[in-house]
Amino acid sequence: MQIIDSETRGFNNRFELDGIIFLEPSPHLFNFNNPYGACPTCEGFGRVMGIDEGKVIPNMALSVFEGAVACWKGEKYGLWLEKLRESAHHFDFPMHTPYQDLSKREKKLLWKGNQYFWGINAFFEELEEKTYKIQNRVMLARYRGRTTCHTCDGGRLREEATYVKIGEMDITDLIDMPVDELFVYFQNLKLNDFDTKVAKRLILEINNRLSFMCKVGLGYLTLNRLSATLSGGETQRINLTRTLGSNLTSSMYILDEPSIGLHPKDTNRLVEVLRSLRDLGNTVIVVEHEEDIIKSADYLIDIGPHAGIHGGEVVFAGPYEDMYKEASDSLTAKYMSKRMEIPLPTVRRKAIDFMEIKGARENNLKGFDAKFPLHTMTVVTGVSGSGKTTLVKQILYPALKKHLGESYSRAPGVHKELSGSIDLINRIELINQNPIGKSSRSNPVTYVKAYDTIRALMTAQQLSKIRGFKPGHFSFNVDGGRCDTCKGEGEQVIEMQFLADVRLICESCKGQRFKPEVLEVKYKGKNIHEILDLSISESLDFFAEAKDVIRKLTPLNDVGLGYVKLGQSSSTLSGGEAQRVKLASFLAKEQSSEHILFIFDEPTTGLHFHDIRKLLDALNALVEKGHTVIVVEHNMEVIKSADWIIDLGPDGGKNGGNLVFQGTPEKLVKIKGSHTGYYLKDKLD
Ligand SMILES: [Zn+2]
Ligand SMILES: [Zn+2]
Repeated sequence: MQIIDSETRGFNNRFELDGIIFLEPSPHLFNFNNPYGACPTCEGFGRVMGIDEGKVIPNMALSVFEGAVACWKGEKYGLWLEKLRESAHHFDFPMHTPYQDLSKREKKLLWKGNQYFWGINAFFEELEEKTYKIQNRVMLARYRGRTTCHTCDGGRLREEATYVKIGEMDITDLIDMPVDELFVYFQNLKLNDFDTKVAKRLILEINNRLSFMCKVGLGYLTLNRLSATLSGGETQRINLTRTLGSNLTSSMYILDEPSIGLHPKDTNRLVEVLRSLRDLGNTVIVVEHEEDIIKSADYLIDIGPHAGIHGGEVVFAGPYEDMYKEASDSLTAKYMSKRMEIPLPTVRRKAIDFMEIKGARENNLKGFDAKFPLHTMTVVTGVSGSGKTTLVKQILYPALKKHLGESYSRAPGVHKELSGSIDLINRIELINQNPIGKSSRSNPVTYVKAYDTIRALMTAQQLSKIRGFKPGHFSFNVDGGRCDTCKGEGEQVIEMQFLADVRLICESCKGQRFKPEVLEVKYKGKNIHEILDLSISESLDFFAEAKDVIRKLTPLNDVGLGYVKLGQSSSTLSGGEAQRVKLASFLAKEQSSEHILFIFDEPTTGLHFHDIRKLLDALNALVEKGHTVIVVEHNMEVIKSADWIIDLGPDGGKNGGNLVFQGTPEKLVKIKGSHTGYYLKDKLD
């Protein structure tokens, strides 16, 4: 107690007001990874096991009247719907509006109910009260799934954390905003004198970091985006902003293809960021294929001229401008100086049959209709965050899988319908960059099934016949011919406690993977180990007489993997290489009447101009075989080669999700406001 100005005032050191004791804010309170700050219901995951909205309302294009609520069907459970239908006029519930178009309040009402009817929550609560009945347990299991936590509404923090506000926003509001809007919010933030003093340094740091994120083209991201859902390029650019924020000098930064997933529109800003790193007194080394980034280099090192055994030499090293002065072997210089070019297609295939996604509304998509022509190559374009992946991977792919009666892991994203000539398609294949084969013994040659034929060839040799060898003797997957010590791995892994494993060449077989008696069998003077050591392009000469082997290996060469060794473990392949092995396996197949829809997500990642050319040939070969190809891509060489383009945007996040254009590249360049069209112009001249 203290007397100030003869007035009595009470002080204490507790954090309380009006009889309520508040938690003292600490950084932990705002961290959902910390038990102190995490929402107690979902433990900070934001999602809990519960009744899954997507399962209860499998088709959001239906109205409640038409049966949107899947569990309210049949004689018994249909009564729940009956009750709502009879009373809906009392509270003006729009029975005939598609579920996806209901307002937030109306959806909530449907789930919570009111004095006239019981909602969906009550329906499942009743089932749960009588789980001794088997049919109730079956019903519950059918509709259970991961859903948004009701306590924190997916915000992942305990309620008390949201009592603290900056301006009018609590932390869950802030991390829900796209970075570019958040940046504007903090720039316009008005604080009183005291708060300004307290927060000055922090606000400066916040503004710096947010502005860096905008600069590297990540303004469309929200801060609560899970890092696991970011692309490799996005992750690198985020790390870049972190180092920029620290203002370190005299450091060396090495970046491996930071342009992945970046639209040409944002490339210049990335270059600016790299330059400012340099100007701070750092050394920046970038491994890159992107034309604009190569052009902005101070010093260029070109390695090649080709890949694998045909590469490995420094073809050029010097200031960027000198690259064109020397008549060198550099493929990079040849393409950049337009002495070599990826040619424009002489004719574009006519779009005749279409399939159509109507009312695409998932994530930021604004409810447009998109047409995908069949028997052509379609490229889906747009700046990062414009909604390309949502349209192709979250709507088209699962919707078509559903139509074909195949299993799919996630229900199709919100859309009205998939229509058009979809019955012409027999199968859909998403060719992603996930590794091929889990075993360390799998390799590209086993993946395209060429190894079966090679083993048959070895078995047919005289010595094999005398010794009674079967194809299995030439397999490193089963006992018999393979080295018993290393099980055909060629190396042994020594586990070191607390340290990384050490790999040593197997002592028994000296890394040759097979038993000596098997290695004595030779085809054209080479044993199985020596054959596996050939590169794919070498093997095409070696197997010239074995047409079956050639037929299966040629596609691997065609997609630009000629430098890979036959026996090279799949685990050493990059994502882009794995994707091309998958592509080759389809090219190796016999012609069939099947019509497959192929989807490729950024297949040019990690590719040089020269390989992009090969990739395009391979994609076109698929179309010539009677298939349909859809590619999500930023690369202008691929875009200019499309038969049909679907351009989304115009920008990312909230300002994206519109259909800017669909049609031929020649028409796209005439569209004002299309970033893709603007950059495509140069390529079509
Ligand atoms: Zn929660
Ligand atoms: Zn061995």
